[in-house]
Formats: sequence, structure tokens, C-alpha cells
Amino acid sequence: MKSIVIGSGFGGISAALRLRAKGHEVILIEKQNDLGGRARIFRKNGFSFDAGPTVITAPYLIYELFELFGKDPKNYLNIKPLDIWYQFVFEDGTKFNYSGNDEKMKKQISEVSPDDLEGYIKLVNFTKKIFEKGYLELSDVPFTKPFFMMKQIPSLLKLKSYKSVYSLVSSYVKNEKLRRILSMHPLLVGGNPFTTTSIYGLILYLEKKWGIHYSMGGTGNIIKGLETLMNEENIKIKKGFEVNKIISNGKTIKGIRLANGDEISANNVVCNADPPDVYERLLNKKDLNFFFNFKRKRMDYSMGLFVYYFGTKKVYKDVAHHTIKFGNKYKEHLDDIFDKKKLNDDISYYLHRPTATDNSMAPDGCDCFLCSSSSP
Ligand SMILES: Cc1cc2nc3c(=O)[nH]c(=O)nc-3n(C[C@H](O)[C@H](O)[C@H](O)COP(=O)(O)OP(=O)(O)OC[C@H]3O[C@@H](n4cnc5c(N)ncnc54)[C@H](O)[C@@H]3O)c2cc1C
Repeated sequence: MKSIVIGSGFGGISAALRLRAKGHEVILIEKQNDLGGRARIFRKNGFSFDAGPTVITAPYLIYELFELFGKDPKNYLNIKPLDIWYQFVFEDGTKFNYSGNDEKMKKQISEVSPDDLEGYIKLVNFTKKIFEKGYLELSDVPFTKPFFMMKQIPSLLKLKSYKSVYSLVSSYVKNEKLRRILSMHPLLVGGNPFTTTSIYGLILYLEKKWGIHYSMGGTGNIIKGLETLMNEENIKIKKGFEVNKIISNGKTIKGIRLANGDEISANNVVCNADPPDVYERLLNKKDLNFFFNFKRKRMDYSMGLFVYYFGTKKVYKDVAHHTIKFGNKYKEHLDDIFDKKKLNDDISYYLHRPTATDNSMAPDGCDCFLCSSSSP
């Protein structure tokens, strides 16, 4: 069985390795000159910048890829748990060190709003139930059969899926600062806490279950380890080749055509490029069925991000590894991005300082940062 995988982000690499473990002959095709997609690493003047992902929540999913081939992931990468997961900072100077340490969490919650301690404990217990249904039971099940989807409705209603994450959190805690902290998780996956279904509250528990981790040498170091594994397992990697057509005979996928005109045939093609490009350009319009075409026209993009990468000639010891800074106009800022499609002048942002944990990311006496803010 010959399989082609388009795109070398985490998704494409995982698909390539899983197909290889099933005995397929696999070719991975990437249009950039290096692997990783959004998890690429940029290097300049001794500074290393992870292009995108920095927060690792379920490292077992990465380890699994090595274990498929009987390999020990520790020989390829070094993923460490962080003590403080996020430091939340508010305009009035309040700081909250969010972590997996229950005692420290309860102490800080009592300092911010003693009346909310009990609600916080109840909220965590409720998100455990969402996690058990939404993650353990349903996260790897395709929702393609209407009957199967209908069968889930009663339990999803019981889990209050009709509420937004913010509204669910607000039903347990009253303090606005705690509401923001405990409901921010949809932002990590491009969603608005004020409108995203409370099922995404499962991330709150997912973090509690496995913690927040950092890959020493940057997230790009995981990609490097996975590239070594793919080479060892004889996956053919073609870097710097763009696929510009997925070839089909109308019913069956036959292979791909590269931008240079070369064609490669295959039994399977897994395409892990961005969906709009796949449906608009790589697939023939006539291959898309009527219902999908109808749905496609109603689809919308999630939010975007501005990302700044910068190094400093100074070390900022008091800046945590992950900082989330809330502006005063938090809700207004999100309404602007998601509904009005414009940027507010009072933005909230995320600041990554990997050098808080790993001094290999910058020259001696320097710090490196990634700062990102949501945008329409
Ligand atoms: C700034 C930022 C911060 C993030 N932070 C986190 C985080 O902390 N934690 C987390 O879990 N997630 C985070 N994410 C999300 C995470 O980065 C993505 O979900 C993940 O990297 C996507 O992987 P992917 O394989 O699906 O796609 P991508 O990484 O986008 O990979 C797609 C690949 O396909 C290639 N490609 C596309 N079209 C073609 C073609 N026609 N021919 C050949 N190659 C093609 C592209 O060049 C690319 O390499 C973040 C994302 C961003 C942008």
C-alpha cells in the first residue's frame, strides 16, 4: 500500500508515522524547506523562536508515535512539566500563578475572592465529567453518522453544552478575574469563551490531568526528533515540493501532482494542509459532493493572530514562562475580533519567555520572546 501525506505539521507527521507503523510505503511532501509547519523553529543571531505552539498539554500523544516503533522517546526529545502553567496579569497589577498545585491554587483563589473557593472546586469536578465524555469517549470518534450524533444529545445536554464556557464558569464563580482565568481556554484553540460551547471546558480538566509541558530546545526540537524517527523508519521526505493537485478519477483518489508538473501515484492521499486551500485549489470542484458544497459556502474562518518574535540584550527574570495579560476591555476586545472584525485599542495578549526554563534559546545574558494577540 503506497500512501502520500501532504504537509509536515504535527498532523501530517503523525499520519505519516501511523501509516508507516501499519506497513504502508509512505512519502511525506512539504512545500517549505524545513518540517514542522506552524511548529517550525526560526533561528537568528543566536536566538531560537518557536513559530507557533509552545504549550504542550498531552505529551503522551507525542510519545505514542515513538512507541509505535518500539522506540524510547527520551532518546529523541526532552519534554519537561512546568511548575507554573500560566501567570495571569491584570491591568490593576494583580498576578495569579495558575498551576496544578491544588493548595497554591486554593490559596490564591481565597485571596482574590474567598466566596468563590467552593464554586471553583465544584467547577473542576464538573469539567472532569465533560473531560470524561468529550475527550476520553468522543474525541477520536468521527461524527459522521446522524444516528450516532443524535445519541450523544442527552448526555451533552446534561453537561450543559448549550452554555458558553464563560457562562458555565460564571455559574460557579462570581469574581470577574476568576471568571476570565477559568474560561480562557477556548482562546487556545481559536474560540471565543463567550460563545464557544462549554464542552471546551474540558481543557481546564485536561490540563489538570497531564499538566503543562515545555520541550527543551523549543517545540521545534520535537519536530527534529520526529524527523529522525521518520528517517530511521524509511519514510521518504520530500522538502521544498508543493502539491498543487490531488488527482482523482471522480470516485477514487489516484495520487498528486507537484507544482513542477511531476505526478506521483498512490493508493491513499492524506492531506493535512489548511482546508480552504484543499477544497478551493487542490481538489477538483466536481469531486466535491452537493451537500459538502452547501456546507462549505457557510463556513467561516476562526480568529487570526498577530505574532511578534523578539530578543532582548537583557534578562527579564520577573517575567514568567507563559504570561497572559488581560486588558480592561476584555469582552469588548473579543466582541470586536469575533463579531465586528476589527481590533480594539485595549488588547489582551500572550507572552512566551522560553528562556525562563531553557537558556539554550538565547545567547548568554539575553532573553527571547514570542508575543501574540488575537485578531479578526
Ligand atoms: C502562534 C500560534 C501559537 C500556537 N500555540 C499552540 C500551543 O501552545 N499549543 C498547541 O497545542 N497548539 C498551538 N497552536 C496550534 C498548533 O500550532 C497547530 O494546531 C498545529 O501546529 C497544526 O498542525 P497541522 O499539522 O495541522 O498543520 P500545519 O502545522 O499548518 O502544517 C501544514 C503543513 O502543510 C504544508 N503545506 C500546505 N499546503 C501544502 C501543499 N500544497 N504542498 C505541500 N505542503 C503543503 C505547510 O507548509 C505546513 O508545513 C498554535 C498556533 C499558532 C499559529
